[in-house]
Amino acid sequence: MTDKMETECPECGSRVRFTLDDVAKQRTVRCSRGHLVKLHDEGGGARKASKALSDLDMALKRFGK
Ligand SMILES: [Zn+2]
Repeated sequence: MTDKMETECPECGSRVRFTLDDVAKQRTVRCSRGHLVKLHDEGGGARKASKALSDLDMALKRFGK
């Protein structure tokens, strides 16, 4: 899983980069100024999306490129 996403740091508004996987695992990420931003997977949606994407990835690999 390497889908990069971005949000704004609630403290300073600088960019915070994270992946869907980070949300799925509810990791704490750091903004460029070092503030900690806790990611919340509301309703488990990211976890499902993460799984769906990896399933899709598998399916695509099976197709053989
Ligand atoms: Zn910040």
